[in-house]
Amino acid sequence: MDQNWKAIMEKRVENTMKALQNHNMDAYFINDKAELIRKLDELVPEGSTVTVGGSMTLFETGVIDYLRSSRFHFLDRYEKGLTPEQVVQVFKKAFTSDVFFSSSNAVTEDGYLYNVDGNGNRVAPMIYGPDSVVIIVGWNKIVKDIDAAIERNRQISAPANVVRLGIPNPCAKTGHCMDCQGATRICCDYVLLGKQKIPGRIKVLILGEDYGY
Ligand code: SF4
Repeated sequence: MDQNWKAIMEKRVENTMKALQNHNMDAYFINDKAELIRKLDELVPEGSTVTVGGSMTLFETGVIDYLRSSRFHFLDRYEKGLTPEQVVQVFKKAFTSDVFFSSSNAVTEDGYLYNVDGNGNRVAPMIYGPDSVVIIVGWNKIVKDIDAAIERNRQISAPANVVRLGIPNPCAKTGHCMDCQGATRICCDYVLLGKQKIPGRIKVLILGEDYGY
């Protein structure tokens, strides 16, 4: 990476971490995937019941494989052979898990996490339920403010997820949100997490690399 651009990104990470901490969230900068796993060993007690919200970042960073190790009791929504009803049961159990893992559609430099969800199963346990919430993001998810976060979802996260899921929504064809109104819309619940009641419940781990979308 160009060293000048890296210096800018590091400044943005610093701003973001300070703002998240002001909002009672713990924030960590992580250099790479190996350091990420070491940090998770510190943050997540062995034997914890853990589960995840849908996330490409968790696959790309190796976190899904890490959670499948015998160290944890992993409620695995991706387990082969699960029926749709069983997947819903896993979603519901997330509320009583010890630790919920997810990425975020955007993290603002003024300390907010912004997420848009179709079913709500990813954003709901971020708000309430699990004792601990671990959010893992590449630094590509950092944006200036809430307006930029909304725009990021409309221009990047949601269209890319629609393509990934193979859904015939108009954003997959145009590359931009077209405010579709059909049954296959994936943008239904818009959640902004700000100053938290419980200090440290939400932990944001920012990687100095790009992951997910
Ligand atoms: S509202 Fe519809 S068109 Fe817009 S990003 Fe979401 S799924 Fe795509």
